[in-house]
Amino acid sequence: MNVYEELGVPVVVNGVGPATRLGGLPISDEVWHAMREASLHSVRISDLQIAAGRTLAKLLSVPACYVTSGAASALHLATASMMTRDDPALIDRLPDVSGMRSEVVVQRAHRDPYDHAVTSTGATLVEIGYPKSTHSGELRRALTSRTAAVLFRPGATGNLLGLAEFASIAHEQNIPVIIDAALITPPLDRLTGLFDDGADLIAVSGGKGLRAPQATGLLCGRPELIDLVSLHHQDMDEREQTWHTAAERPGLRTPPRHGIGRPMKVGREQIIGLVAAVQQYLRAPDDGNMTGINELEIARRHLQDGGVVPVEKAYEHSLNVPVLHLDLGALGLDVDRVVRDLAQLPTPVILGEDLAWRSVLIANPMALRPGNGIQLAESVNSVCRLALAEGESGQ
Ligand SMILES: *Cc1c(COP(=O)(O)O)cnc(C)c1O
Repeated sequence: MNVYEELGVPVVVNGVGPATRLGGLPISDEVWHAMREASLHSVRISDLQIAAGRTLAKLLSVPACYVTSGAASALHLATASMMTRDDPALIDRLPDVSGMRSEVVVQRAHRDPYDHAVTSTGATLVEIGYPKSTHSGELRRALTSRTAAVLFRPGATGNLLGLAEFASIAHEQNIPVIIDAALITPPLDRLTGLFDDGADLIAVSGGKGLRAPQATGLLCGRPELIDLVSLHHQDMDEREQTWHTAAERPGLRTPPRHGIGRPMKVGREQIIGLVAAVQQYLRAPDDGNMTGINELEIARRHLQDGGVVPVEKAYEHSLNVPVLHLDLGALGLDVDRVVRDLAQLPTPVILGEDLAWRSVLIANPMALRPGNGIQLAESVNSVCRLALAEGESGQ
């Protein structure tokens, strides 16, 4: 019996990939062993963050890094840091934003549900432009003495401001550029391109393609900005007389208290696990997906042999993996019903719904385990056969 069965929690076939709601991806033995070893020894988390940040920065060829509990918390910590800088009074005041810069300017086309990670600091988003277009004048007019930062989310299409132009206008007013790169990294060489185009702080997810522990992420950026993040994040049960990092922060006469990011703490296991996962990823970027891609091919052949559901190979560019498209519309089946039926099986099968609007379900390989390919295909075949038979008998 595995730990989930002991609790009575059904184990699912995850055909979605690195989805937080399904727990993300399996971690490797190498990462697991590093985490186990990390948990045995006590260290100062502030020392560990500095050392891990240096190591990660070198590995990723970026200026500086800080380990967070995910890309979302990286966005939160980046925003909080840009609002308060190193003023302990302002740090202690959040999410009350009185007396500080508290607006974050974003193109409307770049809005996303993860914006909550930015506004949960107390910041206000100021939208510019329209879903398919932004003018540079709209950005210029939105930047004021209230602006703490601008937010850029790569990937949207339209006549939008590209990063280089967006950043250069923000930098004319000395306003930092925060990037949400959770969906486009890895590949990690994209980070260099973002910095070349003017990024100041970049949020990266550990739990997606890097296959680090699910609750990890990274904020990469300019060293003097990354240096502020710990003030919002670290446990501050310290006395000001003996606050051990005081010497490194001569500008701070008195330390702040627990920052707004304290609920997003990362443990030593997460920090070490992320370092190990990045090292492993850089040694062999494609290895992590091999098992799943193999299972996906088994699923494709089984689906094809089953002859029930039209199946097509496709490519998911943001995650850099092959996927399958299952065209339920071609069968005249109600996609929502198929999703619900698959979810009610004794071993639920969960597929991607990004194309549900055109009655297509997506099978992603990244979380598939040995045996999942056949299981996925047989479940889809039987659920669809049953739904078709009921349709014919008029039920
Ligand atoms: C996944 C994602 C995030 C959040 O990443 P976590 O590491 O899970 O916190 C943020 N922004 C975008 C665009 C994402 O796709």
